[in-house]
Amino acid sequence: MSQVRNVKGTRDLLPEESVLWSAVEACAREIFGRYGFGEIRTPILEDTALFVRGVGESSDIVGKEMYTFDDRKGRSLTLRPESTASVARAYIQHRLQERANPVKLFYIGPQFRYERPQRGRYRQFQQIGAEVLGDAGPASDAELLIMLLRFLRQLEFDSLVVRLNTVGDAESRQRFSAALRSYLEPMRDQLGEDSQRRLETNPLRILDTKNPQERELLVDAPKLADSLSDECRAHFDALLALLDRFDVPYQIDQSLVRGLDYYTRTVFEIASADLGAQDAILGGGRYDRLVSDLGGPSVPGIGFAIGQDRLIDIVPETFRARHRLPSPVVVVPVGLDDGASVALEIAEELRSRGVPTSAELSGRAMGAALRQANKLDARGVVLVGEDELAAGTLTFKDFSTGEQATVERSALIADLAGSASRDPDDD
Ligand code: AMP
Repeated sequence: MSQVRNVKGTRDLLPEESVLWSAVEACAREIFGRYGFGEIRTPILEDTALFVRGVGESSDIVGKEMYTFDDRKGRSLTLRPESTASVARAYIQHRLQERANPVKLFYIGPQFRYERPQRGRYRQFQQIGAEVLGDAGPASDAELLIMLLRFLRQLEFDSLVVRLNTVGDAESRQRFSAALRSYLEPMRDQLGEDSQRRLETNPLRILDTKNPQERELLVDAPKLADSLSDECRAHFDALLALLDRFDVPYQIDQSLVRGLDYYTRTVFEIASADLGAQDAILGGGRYDRLVSDLGGPSVPGIGFAIGQDRLIDIVPETFRARHRLPSPVVVVPVGLDDGASVALEIAEELRSRGVPTSAELSGRAMGAALRQANKLDARGVVLVGEDELAAGTLTFKDFSTGEQATVERSALIADLAGSASRDPDDD
């Protein structure tokens, strides 16, 4: 019979990887919480119209990457390709503007995009994101970037640089789009298929082309910076001043426009050469019209989304080493009639003292039980036979030293509990 396998572009995370994922998530929760962000969990399934209106029809996501299907009643639903639109929808629906201003929310969850799978690019991937709704000032942009860097430093990254740009407001963008269109129109034939389409739908997106021939054509193109309104320029300058003041490392990149239609003013990205072709770890920006475009009040927003799969791919070894599965103690009964129950009783006592413990319950012989303990990467085994039961002792074989000793039961348990609760960093 043919074997059923996972869907292309999706992955299973096995325990040794999941523990690292959980550690990164715990770190995000802790740091974002420190900055006053609360967690929001929105549904994975949304009405298709949310993304068409929110993310924008000219985006690649809506144009060709969504998992969209009709449910049994013929309603068009979509597996969310990103979460900002969902957060904005929830904000509007629950009238969150009445609770606080700004509202600060973060999320952690899977996203779905029908892209060509390769290293760092999946069809189901996970994002950790945060959104600030209700403040239009540059200090909010700065605070978000400062928080992001604190989070990344907590994961022990030390050399990541923010790439930053401003795409202006709707008016600046319209002015610029018109200028870029008239500049590129005479060279239309030299543009690739995607860029020719973007010339009609969203010329701005042509700026982030990777095609060398197109990049060449863009060298003398009008600059977005020259179309900015005074307000947009002042916003950007104030942001840069704050980033300097708080030592946030950044580079201005005028070709950075990001792939989602809703961005206004500030946009940013962090990339790492360690990732290869798919090098962006995270992206974000300001979206001052998204909430009103979705039928809500006129409330500005800014946010980012970190690609957790890519982040984990390059998380520093020092962080990785501190977040491995715990090495258990394995309790092995030796030659006892009621071995499983004795092993279970000792294991439960160790567990109640905080010691990760496995019990040999299946009656394996000593040799097989020790091999199993090795596979579990155990700290050691606790052996209990007739002699130990009679004397109120336990025998511990320590795998790190290879030494074996028989000691009083309560003393051994206290000793194992003491060393389990000690932070490995204290050693
Ligand atoms: P975006 O939502 O497109 O702004 O992307 C934000 C971040 O999510 C990117 O910088 C990536 O790290 C990550 N990301 C986006 N698409 C994928 C994908 N198909 N597979 C893995 N990570 C992704």
